[in-house]
Parts: sequence; structure tokens; C-alpha cells
Amino acid sequence: MTRLLIATTNPGKQREFRRLLAHLPAELVVPADLGIDLDVAEPYDTYAANAKAKAVAYAAASGVLTVADDSGIEVAALDWGPGVRSARWGGPDKAASLVEALAGATDRRARMVCALAIANSGDHDAVELFTGIVDGEVAAAPRGTGGFGYDPIFLLPRGLTTAELPEGEKDALSHRGRAVAAATPRLLELLDAAH
Ligand code: IMP
Repeated sequence: MTRLLIATTNPGKQREFRRLLAHLPAELVVPADLGIDLDVAEPYDTYAANAKAKAVAYAAASGVLTVADDSGIEVAALDWGPGVRSARWGGPDKAASLVEALAGATDRRARMVCALAIANSGDHDAVELFTGIVDGEVAAAPRGTGGFGYDPIFLLPRGLTTAELPEGEKDALSHRGRAVAAATPRLLELLDAAH
């Protein structure tokens, strides 16, 4: 079966991608499965450019069809930041940092954004990009044990944080789930062509 590389070392993302891509006719692998250990910088000011850089670096190193994402949380009260800087923003506990930054704020609107890049080689120009967005709010305090990163404070309109959703339910509506859904027809074509 054709291999599909999930180009992240983040265990939370790996878990989600494994679920989201499980229906594809592909053998899902992560960098460690291929003995690949890359440290790809995310220096760009768009999710798309960062996702592209990661996908190309891993596809070039592995020779395997690759998906990579760059994601972040955008908060109205922070001028829609930290956004593409989400991974570098705040302290070690991202959720707690955000709750603190929004203490007393009445406008708590937020959204999570995911840019997903597919690379089949080290050719930057051949990378394909897909986006997923989910709207919500910053919760008053962290809640829930699922997910990772900002999930305990990302409150959905239905009143639960994405960390409170049962395993797998985040996938149906998350920024990453939506980006993967948008990319799925193309992934199916690429996997079919690689047959
Ligand atoms: P990156 O896409 O790995 O650069 O992640 C950016 C930041 O957003 C990191 O702090 C992640 O923990 C966080 N993040 C990415 N995806 C999610 C998610 O699905 N839920 C919550 N936090 C996330």
C-alpha cells in the first residue's frame, strides 16, 4: 500500500491525523517510522507558507507523499492574534496563558485555523494547500482533558470546549478536520496515481 507521511512530531496532531486519514487507502506513517528527524523552522507570516515549508522538507527527506499542517488560534480581543505565532506565544501552558490574557475581556470571540499542505516531492511549486476554520470563543477557564494545545479553552457554540468532546468528535468540526475533508479528494487522486 502507498505510504502517506504525517509530517509532524506533535503527538496530539499525529493522533488526530491518524484518525482523520484512516479511511484513505494508504499506510499512514510518522517521521519516526521512517527514521527521519527534522527540525523545520516556521519563520513565515502565513500558515500556508509554514505548512508548505514543513511538507516540502519532509517529502524531500522521505520520498513519500506527505501532509503537514500549520495551525493557530485567532482571538478578537488580541487583534486576531496570536494566529500564525500561536506556537511561540504565551508560556508553557498555552491554555492558561490565553485565559490570563483575556481576563475581564467581554469580547471572547476566537477561531482556530489550519492550513494543510500536500507535497509529493521537494518541489515547492507543486505543493497543494487546503484550509479549515472553526469559530468559537475563549472559555473563562480551561475545561476537559481531550485534545492538546489550546483545546481546553476553545469553547464551541454548543457550550463544550474541544477538550471536552468525546474522542473523535472534534474531528467532525475542527479546523484540522475541515482542512482534511477539503484535501481528501486530492489525496485520493494522488494515492490512486501512485498505485
Ligand atoms: P503548529 O501548527 O504546530 O505551529 O501549532 C500552533 C499552536 O497551536 C501550538 O501551540 C499548538 O499546540 C496549537 N494547536 C495546533 N492545533 C491545535 C488544535 O487542534 N487544538 C488546540 N491547539 C492547537
